Amino acid sequence: MPLAEKALIAWIRRAGKSAIRGRVGRSSVLTGIGDDCAVLRLPLQHDTVVTTDFTLEGIHFRRDWHPAESVGHRALARGLSDIAAMGGQPVAAFLSLALPRDLPQAWVGRFVRGLLSLASKYGVALAGGDTAESPNGILADIIVVGTVPKGKAVLRSGARPGDRIFVTGELGGAAAAVLQMRARPKNKLNPRNYARHFYPDPRIALGRILREKGLATAMIDLSDGLSTDLAHICEESGVGAEIESAAIPLAHVGKPAHEVSLDLALHGGEDYELLFTSPRGKRVPAEIAGVAVTLIGHITRLPKILVGNLKGVYYELQPQGWEHFHR
Ligand SMILES: [Mg+2]
Repeated sequence: MPLAEKALIAWIRRAGKSAIRGRVGRSSVLTGIGDDCAVLRLPLQHDTVVTTDFTLEGIHFRRDWHPAESVGHRALARGLSDIAAMGGQPVAAFLSLALPRDLPQAWVGRFVRGLLSLASKYGVALAGGDTAESPNGILADIIVVGTVPKGKAVLRSGARPGDRIFVTGELGGAAAAVLQMRARPKNKLNPRNYARHFYPDPRIALGRILREKGLATAMIDLSDGLSTDLAHICEESGVGAEIESAAIPLAHVGKPAHEVSLDLALHGGEDYELLFTSPRGKRVPAEIAGVAVTLIGHITRLPKILVGNLKGVYYELQPQGWEHFHR
């Protein structure tokens, strides 16, 4: 253990002071780290949304590829992105860490700093957690708690035939970084040229605005890749989809910046953009909360996902999960 558990908790608690504590919007963390439980007071007339995500060394990151700050940032970003996909407001995060005995203390410090800097950006309190020694590799488990007005959480199951399909931002950027690192494992990537992979920005404000304005009938965050996540929406909603490949916004990565391939945009994961469906009559702005919103297709009754190529020929899209690309 790089720091005794007590010392580590005390350290995280001090580091967390700079992150927003106490009242978060109308929610309060009455008691955070340092008691048996955190005590949260969530606003009346709201539902609570909760998500949990593992971050495992060798699966989600490699110490020789990812700066510790990026690992901490990404660990929390995954949870925040899930809250965004419900149209929710994040309130508190909980972090459980298992660390190998020989891990330098500086690594943990940088990890926590990366996590807390994202937490403070979104007014999320680090309200508790646990630490243990890991026999093999770093393991971080993050729980994020958020709120959404009663009955208003945007689910995956609300898409109806005729709804239009939109994505936020650009797709395939995070996967492009992974492919680069796999191709040249010794070559360190500059995180600034691959920000979507190293420092993804969860679309909290965008998700909330979509929910407030009633623009989203169904929503999911793009963690597994467009083909897989669109299949999740279709499955949960009992519908199909038709999308146009020419409409899919391709990410720009690297230096000099270049466009990623359509394959990466269709199947690459971990972009943490939002995919949502919108009722036919609603006007959806081309930009929301400073992020581009692009129409890529529509929902159909036939339970299949079809992609139109540039010649207007449609073929069935097989969900190729991000896991498939990883291997
Ligand atoms: Mg998700």
